[in-house]
Amino acid sequence: MARYTQLQNMSLRGRRVFVRVDFNVPLKKNGDHYEVVDETRILGALPTIQYITEAGGRCILASHLGRPKGGPEAKYSLEPVAKVLSQKLGQDVILTDSCIGDGARGLSRQMRDGDVLLLENLRFEPGEESNASELCQKLQELCDCYVSDAFGTLHRAHASTHGLAKLFEFKDRGMGLLVQKELAYLEPLKDRPQKPFVLVMGGAKVSDKIGILEHFLDKVSTVIIGGAMAYAFLRAKGYEVGKSFCQDEQVNLAARLLKSAAARDIQMVLPVDHVVASSMDDEAGAQVTESESVPDDKMALDIGPRTVEKYAAALEGAETIFWNGPMGVFEKPAFAKGTFEMARHIAQSKAKKLAGGGDVAAAIAASGREEEFDFISTGGGATLEYLEGKPLPGLRILDQDNRLGI
Ligand code: AMP
Repeated sequence: MARYTQLQNMSLRGRRVFVRVDFNVPLKKNGDHYEVVDETRILGALPTIQYITEAGGRCILASHLGRPKGGPEAKYSLEPVAKVLSQKLGQDVILTDSCIGDGARGLSRQMRDGDVLLLENLRFEPGEESNASELCQKLQELCDCYVSDAFGTLHRAHASTHGLAKLFEFKDRGMGLLVQKELAYLEPLKDRPQKPFVLVMGGAKVSDKIGILEHFLDKVSTVIIGGAMAYAFLRAKGYEVGKSFCQDEQVNLAARLLKSAAARDIQMVLPVDHVVASSMDDEAGAQVTESESVPDDKMALDIGPRTVEKYAAALEGAETIFWNGPMGVFEKPAFAKGTFEMARHIAQSKAKKLAGGGDVAAAIAASGREEEFDFISTGGGATLEYLEGKPLPGLRILDQDNRLGI
């Protein structure tokens, strides 16, 4: 049984607390500056920040943003985040010019109890992604203890998520409130979902989702498959999928999964009609097919109305529903209906309703039904890997029993 230090059990007063948060938010350019488009991740970090400042701690926030190439780039600066944070917290949040160096060190020493400092993008330092020990040591100089609150990055062994944590004693490397909340929902889902358990899979990449399907094979009663994933399964069953997004190697994986599911009496529910068009941009040409087969010159971009009905029926009686991945190209109105209708049906179910991994959070937000879900995970890859049962480096390093610091 893993044991962790929780933020609530850490000594915080008067101490500089390094908090790894996930401020990897979408930005848009407005004139000569950038603005935060979606504040969800910033809001998600507020409970931990406020807990620390109210306890008299000095909060040093650190995050990556985007994919800079190992050096500073204005478009990946955390400046717009500092602005939003200052507003939300109602106090000044100073942004350092770099996450390490004299500037950051000086500012960290001047902090008073309750202050909040934001370090500039961690990925401006090449050592972040390579988990370089030099960078870990420099970050350690800034702080007295470490809190992990970036759930979405726990599957990465980077300096700020792994190497730095390793430098602190067990009592001084703790878990923030967001990570605690994620685990409170995801751990029971992974190990003991209330049955009947229905898994709703979608999105584009079968290979990314295979692990989850395999992990849940001995726990699910029904698997509903939509999105581009469905075409690998339909092809494995011998249907024509036209120009639909589907790679050959995925068809073999799908065939293997269909076999494993049949051996366990799991119901695998696949589309019976589709919304097709000649390309993703051909919204005007969207048409509903009569059957499973997709015409040669078309690609399937959403599930059709008969499929929605079939899927709604398959949700009936569920005690737990986990939804991962949209049913179609929901970003385009002509292909969004299947995803939004599924959001509605899942939201109306009496089951415990959880979602996460990849793009599904954005799809649910676009459907306006976020409030009706019991829990929507903030993680993409981290959520998927956790549910597959893979050890997450950023989590394992917090575990008391991990004396080797792997
Ligand atoms: P994922 O990150 O694997 O959950 O995939 C999400 C993406 O899958 C979204 O951007 C959707 O637009 C895309 N998607 C869903 N259904 C289809 C489809 N039938 N064809 C192509 N892309 C799709």
